[in-house]
Amino acid sequence: MLTGAGISAESGVPTFRDAGGLWEGHRVEDVATPEAFERDPDTVHRFYDARRRALARVEPNPAHEALARLERAMGDDLLVVTQNVDDLHERAGSRRVLHMHGDLLTARCTRCDARSPVAADLIERPPCPECGERMLRPDVVWFGEMPYDLDEIDEALLACDAFAAIGTSGAVYPAAGFVMSAASFGARTIELNLAASEITPLFEDVRHGPASVVVPVWVDELLASHG
Ligand SMILES: [Zn+2]
Repeated sequence: MLTGAGISAESGVPTFRDAGGLWEGHRVEDVATPEAFERDPDTVHRFYDARRRALARVEPNPAHEALARLERAMGDDLLVVTQNVDDLHERAGSRRVLHMHGDLLTARCTRCDARSPVAADLIERPPCPECGERMLRPDVVWFGEMPYDLDEIDEALLACDAFAAIGTSGAVYPAAGFVMSAASFGARTIELNLAASEITPLFEDVRHGPASVVVPVWVDELLASHG
């Protein structure tokens, strides 16, 4: 299962596309590239520090909770791959979550590459717990960088019986390729999204509506049909 910005948006987590793609007068692209970080690390840190603090003001919604309920029933047979950098899946109770675009709550050391929990705003330059250098960056995959866990995701796509995409626009590579891979390996495919997306025609089954409404209904049907 793949989840995207659409599921977090209903919890009040702003997406990059909100506010016309601007943040404090910066184009979002200008705070989400390695070049931006090199040029102006303070601005990049302020952007992600603010997004991390904003997580304290949001809660998981019924879509996150339904997916956690599904995991409790399916155990290791369910894997959530998310494009989101928030922790709403985990707070709802999901345990098997891969953050392919990184995680706001961890930092990555630009010296030793260790990933560690964020203990203080990164603009304050806290030290890396591994090597002690004060060279942490947000553990977020920026434009032009390789997403995390692609091998593990490929294995899951190869092995899965069903693939669901929830709240993803489909436009972001490589997520758009996941549905094609899953289908070519024989999985059933379903899209749950607010509205039709660019990749809607690739799915066997499509349900449109707010994630907090359509996801719990779908999960209840799955649980009923599998006893
Ligand atoms: Zn380090």
